[in-house]
Parts: sequence; structure tokens; C-alpha cells
Amino acid sequence: MAGELYVCATPIGNLEDITFRALRALREADLIAAEDTKRTRALLSHYDISVPLLSYNAHNRKQRVPAIMAKLKEGAKVVLVSDAGTPGISDPGPLLVAEARKEGIPVIPLPGPSALSAALSICGFDMPQFTFTGFLPRREGEREKLLLELRESGRGVVCYEAPHRIEDALASLAKVWPEAKVALMRELTKIYEEVLVGSPAELAAELARNPRRGEMVLVIAGDKEGGREKAPSQDQIQETVLALMERMDKKGAIKEAAAELGIPKRLVYQAVIDLPGRGEMD
Ligand code: SAM
Repeated sequence: MAGELYVCATPIGNLEDITFRALRALREADLIAAEDTKRTRALLSHYDISVPLLSYNAHNRKQRVPAIMAKLKEGAKVVLVSDAGTPGISDPGPLLVAEARKEGIPVIPLPGPSALSAALSICGFDMPQFTFTGFLPRREGEREKLLLELRESGRGVVCYEAPHRIEDALASLAKVWPEAKVALMRELTKIYEEVLVGSPAELAAELARNPRRGEMVLVIAGDKEGGREKAPSQDQIQETVLALMERMDKKGAIKEAAAELGIPKRLVYQAVIDLPGRGEMD
């Protein structure tokens, strides 16, 4: 008989955040595939569970899938855990799950904690729709392009962020989405849990005064919460540029209009591309 693959959420800080069902599956497992065996061992020892562990992470997953699949085909119950939270959410999981499903092995979710749902549950923003970005791009240009697209979508946004990159993320937000309403949620479910709410500039100033470390999630409110100034219409952009062109060339007017309207030069350029003028964009 084929085995079963359980995909099991584990605590993101507080070890009590684990379901009865997850504990039973861990206790009854033949093998636990763990992203971070040290961290999982600490969880297991807290609950007095002793089951063989196999490391399964972003670096070794391709090599580990055949060994885990062999166990499953022999009838083993395998539980997959990440270092914290829900596997598959910015953590390893999809490769093994897809392979198991392809081979007809039942894949069973054991839902529970995730920094994503924990952050959403206490941000206090009404976000019927949201985009989850995982970690923001490291490169400034890519990050700002993405944030700009997200701002224009009108939806709320949830981002995971590494503590050493939080200042860069807030600086990018301050540049392309300065009016954003942001909740920075830190060390959720842990002793130093903290939620700071403000504009990107206010949060950046607070971190400059009193630097924070630890695990962090950023939640950015969408239009429903007034988290974005209403974007100017094409007509408004054209009118602004035409008025400015009475005293300067088109290139200068585009630059000035972008600053006046608080939108990127690229958007102004697109709105007035067909208007006659002397200057060209660089
Ligand atoms: N799979 C995990 C989950 O479901 O939450 C996420 C794993 S991802 C590699 C790690 C990121 O999740 C961290 O960099 C941070 O952004 C967020 N995170 C994890 N635990 C957190 C916590 N206790 N408080 C705030 N953010 C947390």
C-alpha cells in the first residue's frame, strides 16, 4: 500500500501554536522531512516526539525527492515541515508535493500557522483582495517597479522581508508609494512581538531612531483603506503638461508634471506621447 505525504504547518515562534492533528501526525510519522532539522528537533523534543528526520531544503531538495518518494512508495507516512510556518509559502514544498501527486500518493494538508495569515489577521486593514509578494526583489530597480505596479493595482499587499533589508524596502516605498499606509509586523507570536503602523517615511524614521531586528512582515493597505491617493486621469495629466508647455518645452513639462502630480515620469510620458512638442524624453 502506498504511503501518505502530510504537509504540516509548525509554529512561527510560540511553540504552543500547533494543532492536535499536527502533533498526532508528527508522532505517528515514519519520517519527517524537515527544512531545518535543528529547529524541528527542538519542536519535537518540546513535545517528547522521537521520529527520524531527513533534511529537505532549497539546496538539497532535488537529490532528496527520490529517497523520500521511495519511502512513500514502500508505504511510509512522511510529514513535510519547513523551519517555521506553512511549507510552500516562501518555503520548500511544491517539488515534493508535485512529485507525490504525480505518483498517486495522497498529499494531505495539516493547516496551521503562517506569518502571512498571522499578519493579515491583526493588521486591521480591510483588504478583501491582496497580493502576496513573498520576499521583495533585492535589486532596487526591480523592487520599485514591482511596488509601483502594486500601488497601481489598488489591492492590499503583504510582503515578507529580511531584517537587514527592511530599511531598503521602506526607502523604495517612500519613493514610489509615499502615501501608503503600512503595518510593519515584527516577531509575531514571540516575546517581542510588535506592530508599527504609519507611512513609509514615518516607519523609516522610527527604525532610524530605534533599529529593529527579527522577523518581519509588511502589510500595505489597498484602496479600500485609502492607502493610495487617487491616480490622476489621462485628461488631468495632459492638461497639466499642456499648461506647463506654455512656459517650457515638452521634456521639461513632463518632468515638472510628474513632480506636481506625484507620479512617475514614465506615466506622464505615456499619457502625452502623441502631443506635439519640441523636447523628447531621455
Ligand atoms: N513558510 C513561512 C510561513 O508560512 O510563514 C514563511 C517562511 S519565509 C522563509 C520566512 C519569512 O516569514 C521571514 O523572513 C518573515 O518575513 C516571515 N516570518 C516568519 N516568522 C515570522 C514571525 N514570527 N514574525 C514576523 N514575520 C515572520
